[in-house]
Amino acid sequence: MGNMFSMGRDSGVKNGFGWIGRLIWPILFWISLGWGQSIHLAYTSNLNCNLETCHCGGNDLGGMVQLLNAVDSLRARYSDLILLDSGDFLNTYTLPLANEVMIELVAAAKYDVLNAGDQEFVEGIDFLLPRVKRFNLPMISASIVRRESRKRLFPAYRILQRNGLRVAIVGVVPPQSFDFIEEPAVHIRQLTPVLKKILPEITEKSDLVVLLLHAGDWAAEPLLQTFPELNVVICGHTQEKVSRRYRGKLIVQAGQDGEYLGLLTVDKKKGGGFKISNQFMPVGPEYKENRWARERVNQYYESLKEKIR
Ligand SMILES: [Zn+2]
Repeated sequence: MGNMFSMGRDSGVKNGFGWIGRLIWPILFWISLGWGQSIHLAYTSNLNCNLETCHCGGNDLGGMVQLLNAVDSLRARYSDLILLDSGDFLNTYTLPLANEVMIELVAAAKYDVLNAGDQEFVEGIDFLLPRVKRFNLPMISASIVRRESRKRLFPAYRILQRNGLRVAIVGVVPPQSFDFIEEPAVHIRQLTPVLKKILPEITEKSDLVVLLLHAGDWAAEPLLQTFPELNVVICGHTQEKVSRRYRGKLIVQAGQDGEYLGLLTVDKKKGGGFKISNQFMPVGPEYKENRWARERVNQYYESLKEKIR
């Protein structure tokens, strides 16, 4: 839509509409902001390198081979869909072949933003970074810096445009989430000073601020108290399925292993501000398996058998 308006403004000036062109496009843009505007954000949390559902104990939810088709069905319904992950898409322990496949499947899902969790470092930084580059993974983190240079490993945030709204997605992980996984090459900053520094710049450039927080509610509440400019917090790490309000703002987390896909619907209120609602879509066998993902996972199993032989 941004292109459409900028095209219109240019052609208006070129064709001699002059001041009319300059006046009419901002008015149309303003109207489009006020009418029937809603956007959709889908999110996953704690995928834990779950390539496919275990079919154990009657549970047939989750796994990437089903999740890919669930995401496709949401994209068919909402062309504006933004897809986010709050961290821990890799495994809890080292398993390089599986983590490699997982990265390929995550790349195939075409996420808009991936927040780095502790588990993304399970194979070390030398495993992660070349793959982020090769697959062009849109990873962010405002709180992870290189230990030596103190420079950020990934961008702190991304701003996406949807239906005339500028949606800022900020990613953080607190040091407390790195209890079990250690990566000596990185340092994890405390969240409050990090956000205090970058949020003014972000709120200036955006209409809505979504925080991807790789920690549980214990971290979300004080941040919502300190930073009322946050519109919604998508948590992670604690493997919980959460959807509740705190100080009027939603705190959500989509459970674990890709069993649920969270879906946030954001409606712009007439008098200003946003109404945000959440729902969980169970990722069950009704989505069928993504054929390419199934083949890639089978190939992985075959390679394991060859290793054992
Ligand atoms: Zn974690």
